[in-house]
Amino acid sequence: MARTPDRRSPRSPGRRATSRRLVLDELSASEHFRAVGDIHDALVRRGQGVGLASVYRATRELQRAGAVEAAVLADGRAGFRGAVPTGAPLYLVCVRCGSAVGASRGVVDAWAREAGRSQRFVDVEVRVSLHGVCAPCGRSVAAGQ
Ligand SMILES: [Zn+2]
Repeated sequence: MARTPDRRSPRSPGRRATSRRLVLDELSASEHFRAVGDIHDALVRRGQGVGLASVYRATRELQRAGAVEAAVLADGRAGFRGAVPTGAPLYLVCVRCGSAVGASRGVVDAWAREAGRSQRFVDVEVRVSLHGVCAPCGRSVAAGQ
């Protein structure tokens, strides 16, 4: 016997749109890149009944739509934040506080194009992030805090 689709399924477009809005609001409130688990924890603390899988899916959908950008965190997890409308920069990510600033990627892109061309690859995509200690964190280390 064939089952009819459940209109109240958690995968319905209305709930997915709500998850995306919650995630985007959360990410837009901070300049820092955060892992999906941390985004989910923040939403739960604010009383939002949204599942981890929904947060994960919403984050990926927002990233594909260009509303959210990603960088590799210092611990190797993927981090996300609201997109800055200046294109796809390369980031310097602080390993202490998670803040990130854009860095010039011209040399990296030129190298990637040449490396791809020399090996006859097409659609070469650069996934690079740089990790270090930001200036405010560096000052607090120097001050012994
Ligand atoms: Zn820092």
